[in-house]
Amino acid sequence: MSTSATTISKTAFLKYDQCSKAFFFYKKHPYLRDPVSKEKQFTFNRGHQVGLLAQQLFPGGVDVSVQTKNSKAAFELTQQLLKENVTTIYEATFIFNGVLIMVDILHFDGESWKAYEVKSSLKVSDAYIKDACLQYYVLKNSIQNFNDLFLVTLNSNYVFGNEIDLKQLFKKRSVKENAEKNIEFFNSTITKMNLVLEQNVIPDIPIGKHCFSPYECDYLGTCWKNTKDPASVFRIGKSDREQLFSLYFSGAETVDKVDLNSDLKPHIKIQVESIRTGRPYFEKNAIKEFLQKIKGNYCFLDMEIWSPAIPKYNGTSPFEQIPFLFSVCYLKGQTPVFKNYLKPIATDSRHEFLSAILDATKDFDSVLVFDKNLEQQILGKLENLVPEKRAEVNELRRKLIDLAEPVQNFNFYHPKFSGNFSLKAVSEIFNEESDYSKLDIASGIVAMHKYEGMLSEENSLINEQTKQNLIDYCNADTLTCMKFFEYLEENIKE
Ligand code: SF4
Repeated sequence: MSTSATTISKTAFLKYDQCSKAFFFYKKHPYLRDPVSKEKQFTFNRGHQVGLLAQQLFPGGVDVSVQTKNSKAAFELTQQLLKENVTTIYEATFIFNGVLIMVDILHFDGESWKAYEVKSSLKVSDAYIKDACLQYYVLKNSIQNFNDLFLVTLNSNYVFGNEIDLKQLFKKRSVKENAEKNIEFFNSTITKMNLVLEQNVIPDIPIGKHCFSPYECDYLGTCWKNTKDPASVFRIGKSDREQLFSLYFSGAETVDKVDLNSDLKPHIKIQVESIRTGRPYFEKNAIKEFLQKIKGNYCFLDMEIWSPAIPKYNGTSPFEQIPFLFSVCYLKGQTPVFKNYLKPIATDSRHEFLSAILDATKDFDSVLVFDKNLEQQILGKLENLVPEKRAEVNELRRKLIDLAEPVQNFNFYHPKFSGNFSLKAVSEIFNEESDYSKLDIASGIVAMHKYEGMLSEENSLINEQTKQNLIDYCNADTLTCMKFFEYLEENIKE
């Protein structure tokens, strides 16, 4: 829903709270905003779904957002509904002191008005509290007999039975005490925000840690464009951001200006030298020792997981990790061969998933994964679910070898990593263009949401295509593992 240029929305307020320049861009130069990534869009969509479900805590309300096209109409409709004594309003819209808010649920319980702000999260962050306190500030000044605002989050202790129990799924926390203490803060901040707009000059704020906290800013593409150089010090990974900013602001914007004789940790020096020379770094003896752990015949394994905010299967909780797809890849002669299992989303076939993965890996002596934490965790959960398979699960666990080890230990570094140590970064070594860029699904988060999308997709052809895209993505992961293993072997021979 569009908002007026003169009002300050909750989003604008939170941007100002993070950085006055981000607020100014948001209000005056919205075209500078970075494109919304698929991952962010999926997070928004999930929040929307959880919000819709939470409305059923107070069923039968009127949803202002579906009947109006802009904030002015939403404000007017809310006023009208209040006059008509409607007791539950979704997306109720208010404006006070130039600040516009849309509260997820507003409910009159017979004694007073209470508001509910829904977050699709298990925890209450400081940013959520600030956001809720701003709404409280506007509501307190807009409605007679307003009593409290509650942050509604998902309850990590909730365990799904045969049907959703909304009262147990959600938990709430009052922000009244916090909000009452901060009324003056909002008054003075809103005055300062209006001054920024009146002055009409881009605030002179340099880049800093605030660009990522509490949220990754939407204007990194504008403010960080000078750091796009592949030799930028911000390409140094696993480092304290404070140290990088201090290097950057002391004139060492690129790695060639970094003094290698200064007090730098060894893994920083490795990266600086590798980025400077453009050559990968190998600690050959350590890599040799690592590769010697791989015994007998081996395969590569990758799993995809789904973490539904609203649990779907008996015995699971919000955001519980459900494995839904694996790829096992091995060489037959010179040809990579894949084995997959994709769990149907409509049913809880985690038992079948476990049987399939045990079967697919049983003939191998070593099972190579990239970053085995996830696999270990998932196998632990499956073992609890199917205790009779404990011995086989332990056997698979024993065979797991983590290809991320040489990367994490800095026995190997490649300048193409650019400070990122994921499997996707590793794939950059092999091609000018990443293998993933050709795929419809190119990240675990997108895979998770595409899988979830099959729940509501009625077109079976689209679902078949999604299944194939998911399998292609998972196979790309195991294939990258295989290429990486071969690359390490090749390079320690010389
Ligand atoms: S990128 Fe950083 S400096 Fe630029 S607007 Fe965002 S938070 Fe402010």
